[in-house]
Amino acid sequence: MANIMANDITSGTSTVSPSNSGSIKIYRNFIGGEFHESLSGQTFENLNPADTRDLVGVFQRSNAQDVDAAVRAAKAAFAKWRLVPAPKRAEIIYRAAEILLSRKEDCARQMTREMGKVLKETRGDVQEAIDCAYFMAGEGRRMYGVTTPAELANKAAMAIRQPLGVIGMITPWNFPMAIASWKLLPAIVAGNCCVIKPAEDTPLSTFNLVQALADAGMPDGVINIVTGYGPEAGAPLLDHPEVRAISFTGSSKVGKLIAQACAGNFKRCSLELGGKNPMIVMDDANLDLALEGALWGAFGTTGQRCTATSRIILHKDIYEEFATKLVARARKLKVGNGLDEAMEMGPAINQRQLDQDLKYVEIGQSEGAKLLCGGNRLCEGDHANGYFLEPTVFGDVTPKMRIAQEEIFGPVVSLIRCESFEEAVEFANGIDYGLSSALYTKDVNRAFAAIRDLEAGITYINAPTIGAEVHLPFGGVKQTGNGHREGGVGSLDFYTEWKAVYIDYSDTLQRAQIDNAD
Ligand code: ADP
Repeated sequence: MANIMANDITSGTSTVSPSNSGSIKIYRNFIGGEFHESLSGQTFENLNPADTRDLVGVFQRSNAQDVDAAVRAAKAAFAKWRLVPAPKRAEIIYRAAEILLSRKEDCARQMTREMGKVLKETRGDVQEAIDCAYFMAGEGRRMYGVTTPAELANKAAMAIRQPLGVIGMITPWNFPMAIASWKLLPAIVAGNCCVIKPAEDTPLSTFNLVQALADAGMPDGVINIVTGYGPEAGAPLLDHPEVRAISFTGSSKVGKLIAQACAGNFKRCSLELGGKNPMIVMDDANLDLALEGALWGAFGTTGQRCTATSRIILHKDIYEEFATKLVARARKLKVGNGLDEAMEMGPAINQRQLDQDLKYVEIGQSEGAKLLCGGNRLCEGDHANGYFLEPTVFGDVTPKMRIAQEEIFGPVVSLIRCESFEEAVEFANGIDYGLSSALYTKDVNRAFAAIRDLEAGITYINAPTIGAEVHLPFGGVKQTGNGHREGGVGSLDFYTEWKAVYIDYSDTLQRAQIDNAD
């Protein structure tokens, strides 16, 4: 099998890094089972956001020509891959799961280095890819279609799933392996071939995932990796005539561009975009449980999840007590390099994200919200070379403030007071997004009303807004997406076309769609 890891592909090109005195690893694009430098002749650096002196690797800064080569390789591989029986495709995916399991710790450590989130979370990210692989391996023996009676005698009718061809994938940095697995694995089990453009901040984890698949026996060209910046290496996928569909996870701003480009090219397009996820805590809730959930939901992954808890809507009778306790706990969170097991929260992914977080701290204050804790960059001692921000809590936030409406994507949470359950739901729904939502209560009637009424693709009862499981549908309503779902069997709907099949065994011309009354 092709070995796509840097050590094997740099063959003699490694040099000594001045920063960590190890060898610099140079990764090349993985196209048709081979390694290619970008035709642009340019590369970019993948830096550790907890310590930017640590160079994780050097990656190709690809352009439209590289993308074209990858798409052609995928198209060539598709001719054979579509004919491999789905259970055989699934066996490769199953083996990849086993391989990843054996490499889980290494992959997690490398992910923490390139992405910043703490080890517990990166282990979870790799595990998510493993779980996705087990689940999708099972689909290789299901991928159920429909058999149904035909309206004429001696005629059979069925609907079968067929692959589309070449799928383009553009992924974000916050779940660098899990999100890549949600896209790649249903696509390939269904018989498609892929070109993936990982986020420029975290390409290594995609290499690690695809390495496991390659080692498990995936044929050359079934998955191709092209690294680089969005407008240079992502955008060419949108216009390429051989790409049949685009699966994108990222910001709403870029999602809109992608939807527009895909519409112009008649491409199927799946968008997984922003969130501004509410957690409602009622006066009858188990407050200690809600507190733990709030800390995890708001500050896990440094608030950099599309499902992060970014608004906590508190019943007025428990507002003060909850706010006081949350602030006390947020102040104690250990912020630092995620490779240190004692740490509870890592850095922002990059300078741009940190600047955005700090900008919203200013916006919140200028809008009249009360900064209860945090709001400052941490830059002394161990924090000196990373993008660290204090866990930040705003109180007295009103529902229409910008900090309660716009996605920040950082460790900044807004507390909003409500008078009643009905008002809490109104506040929760009063935004453009609709990804995740949560309600803490012991009242079963309210729980079911919330499940019905919260405008979101995911609702948790007595759990925070984060923690999706891979066999359930993942996605949002309103401006969070365009109606598709990842995870679960529903993800196959995006990666397959339905074909209706009629088999007439009457030996006569039977006419459907006309009146056959006699
Ligand atoms: P974030 O702000 O979280 O980095 P983005 O939406 O900017 O989210 O990025 C998500 C993914 O989209 C990344 O892989 C990025 O390179 C890619 N991307 C950014 N801009 C474009 C673009 N104009 N066309 C295609 N892909 C893009």
